[in-house]
Amino acid sequence: MPPSTRHLLRTLATVLLLACGATAARAAEPPKVVASILPLHALAAAVMEGVARPHLLVPPGASPHTFQLKPSEAKKLQEADLVLWVGESLETFLEKPLRTLPKRARLVAVGALPGVETLPPRESGVWAEHGHDHGHRHGHGHAHGKASAAAADHEREIDGHLWLDPMNGKAIVLGLAELLAGHDPERAERYRANAAREAARIKALDGELRTRLAPVANRPFVVFHDAYQYLERRYGLAAAGSVTVSPDRPPSAKRLAALRKTIRERGAVCIFAEPQFKAPIVASLAEGTGARTAVLDPVGAPPIEPGPEAYRALLDKLGRDLAACLAGPIG
Ligand SMILES: [Zn+2]
Repeated sequence: MPPSTRHLLRTLATVLLLACGATAARAAEPPKVVASILPLHALAAAVMEGVARPHLLVPPGASPHTFQLKPSEAKKLQEADLVLWVGESLETFLEKPLRTLPKRARLVAVGALPGVETLPPRESGVWAEHGHDHGHRHGHGHAHGKASAAAADHEREIDGHLWLDPMNGKAIVLGLAELLAGHDPERAERYRANAAREAARIKALDGELRTRLAPVANRPFVVFHDAYQYLERRYGLAAAGSVTVSPDRPPSAKRLAALRKTIRERGAVCIFAEPQFKAPIVASLAEGTGARTAVLDPVGAPPIEPGPEAYRALLDKLGRDLAACLAGPIG
């Protein structure tokens, strides 16, 4: 073999070796994650930071209770490896599209992740004065609510706004890290380290919220829709009622009369509207009662932007907005 040919062969061998090495070193694609609502998207984004960004279905400012999925968005679901949601009780718009979810995709109801505690939904829109006993917390797996013939087939009834207890947020990031590590073992340590950091930040925020809300814990208020049970329980807040049980249904005259009575009797300090809904009823309820009106955002509307910080930004803003309105002079 002439030296020139030998040289050529050696060069070729080196090129092949380098090419193979590069292929072996190139990591597998990270899992494609789709999250229904901004708080879940934020928690997933925090766990996946530096790896990939999850996709958000309900944009900031929209409500999962009234949202409709566009066909282009439904396509995102078809491409997903992991789909995060609370469940039918919250994201009704997903019920149908999820029926055609490819087998490869894994659907994760975050309420079932280890350590996430759920509460049964409240029935009425006017709530008893809070005492020291905040009732029993239900771990997942407990059945509750009204039993019905179809109950056995259905998910147990829960109040879907479970992200509003920061301890649930913490449990969700830790649970997600394990799920992602299972899908993508190469990046397992990355997911776990990200989750541990986010969990520590959430824990610190929980302490701040406790300090900020303690001075206003006994001030009664009324919310627009029944979204804040988890937050109320966590910080012992004195919520007196909600304008609607389900924001897609207008309150009945009977309900409004009961609320007006409650606002007067309990001396509600604030009535909170929400950025996701036009609710002129809030101003008219406050009229002549001395209650102030303000806005609370339970899901994430502008100025909150989706991303790894958004979950903490949402809770922080809730704490500030609650404290700001409740702390003022009583009318
Ligand atoms: Zn809601």
